[in-house]
Amino acid sequence: MQKSNIVTALAALITFSGTANAEDNNSAERAIPKLVVAISVDQFSADLFAEYRSSFTGGLKRLANGVVFPSGYQSHAATETCPGHSTIMTGVHSGRAGIIANNWIDLSIEREDKTVYCAEDERIAGTSFGDITAATQGDFVASAWHLLVPTLGDRLKKISPESRNVAVAGKDRAALMMGGHDVDEIYWWQGKGFSTLQGRKIMPAVARLNETIGAKIDKARPAFEIPARCSAHSAKIMHGDGKSVGDYAFQRPDGAASIYRGSPDFDRSIIAAATAVINDMKLGQGETTDVISVGLSATDYIGHAFGTEGLEMCIQMGELDRSLGEFFDILDGQDIDYVVMLTADHGGLDLPERMSQQGVPTAQRIDPDLNAKTIGKKVAAGLNIPGDKPVLYADGPFGDYYVSLELSEEQREQVKDSAMALIAAHAQVEMVLDRDDIASVEIPRGSPEEWTLAERARASFHPDRSGDFIVLLKKGITPIASTQRGYVSTHGSPWDYDRRVPILFWREGIRHFEQPLSVMTVDIAPTLGALIGVEITADQTDGQCLDIDGGPANSCE
Ligand SMILES: [Zn+2]
Repeated sequence: MQKSNIVTALAALITFSGTANAEDNNSAERAIPKLVVAISVDQFSADLFAEYRSSFTGGLKRLANGVVFPSGYQSHAATETCPGHSTIMTGVHSGRAGIIANNWIDLSIEREDKTVYCAEDERIAGTSFGDITAATQGDFVASAWHLLVPTLGDRLKKISPESRNVAVAGKDRAALMMGGHDVDEIYWWQGKGFSTLQGRKIMPAVARLNETIGAKIDKARPAFEIPARCSAHSAKIMHGDGKSVGDYAFQRPDGAASIYRGSPDFDRSIIAAATAVINDMKLGQGETTDVISVGLSATDYIGHAFGTEGLEMCIQMGELDRSLGEFFDILDGQDIDYVVMLTADHGGLDLPERMSQQGVPTAQRIDPDLNAKTIGKKVAAGLNIPGDKPVLYADGPFGDYYVSLELSEEQREQVKDSAMALIAAHAQVEMVLDRDDIASVEIPRGSPEEWTLAERARASFHPDRSGDFIVLLKKGITPIASTQRGYVSTHGSPWDYDRRVPILFWREGIRHFEQPLSVMTVDIAPTLGALIGVEITADQTDGQCLDIDGGPANSCE
């Protein structure tokens, strides 16, 4: 038998291996789904899902009536976008995937810019990453080469080469980490339209969509209508130099294309691109199963720019629900047998200025002196290390810190010990972990809510990429010292507000159930794999297949 026919054959086998048990009608006798739609809603915390669940009427209501794991975990400590997306379709923790953070430092590379972006290929001469939050980024080449493991789509294509593996997202890192290495088509937003891998052509359907979007994002847009349930969320919260959030309804003046990403319209564009690709490639309508990963990024941009509890997020939750409903309606209209999985890459926390009015008076922004540059200078002065070259590097105030390679071994040890002690003594710091101590921790098993902080850090640790030590901040500390460049709040901590995400499955006729015990995003790939005949063995995953049948049949068998 040709390998490419295995999935079809498996489908036939399951279709005709009907059991006598009438209870199983909806499950065991069903064919393999023809299309896997794996959706990640960036920064869609379990808290947001719970807060807005009763108001959903569209796509999220449909999913909430499917199989619901309300306490899913991105179980690792480095709860950023790239690590989070690297767990969803691979079934392994972000450290094992090689994606320790969005950005890390590699002092051994040739180029001057030592900051490495998770989704770039820094080996290409003449490239640089720059600063992801800055208006002007470096000139890097997007790539999935840092991802050290295959995705579900990669695995599917190995056993079924005719299957298509596609990814569409608002962010390159979301598309690349979910799509993986062997992608037939891949698109992400860049500036004013959807872009793809270097050297590849944009398919005509997406090029046409780019023209349509390009023509409208520069134009003024009226405010969204404010739903009645959102009026309680609408209150001005002051932050920074006289700026405020909390009561914005996404009206845009002419020529404000740069704020398009932080509006519900952005998710609609991503869904339009996904729909264009599905239609053009006739995904889900062939002999074999296809996979499309979709990364909806607007919730994250809105969370960063306006926090999680204002009018802005309230409107976004309603619009996300509506856009997803429209998306599923289109798939229904094409008679595609599809299964949907929806989760998030991480959770998020509101801005401290509003939290301090809403029951958390201790919420704070980080001390501006708590960063690698300032600490490094203090340490160098204390140790009488001459010169003005930095002795300490980090991509932000928390996470991985790296000691300069230009020092002697003895100096490196001294710098590390001294910096760790200084940082650990800071009132906003929960813990500073030595890389050797993290490396010696066993890969944690069992309930992720009970993992120690060292175990959480272990799950996003990679020996070749992680820092010399790792800094974890206390609960409720926002690692943005002063609000600027549209960032007022964020995620990235080892705490459950950043780790807990919903994990939802839906397919036509699926038996609804809800399982409140915790599961993990690394369980998703083995679960979907079992549905489509892609075996992911125990040694290939840090998760386990979840039986989403909900009855006596077992979707994992
Ligand atoms: Zn994210």
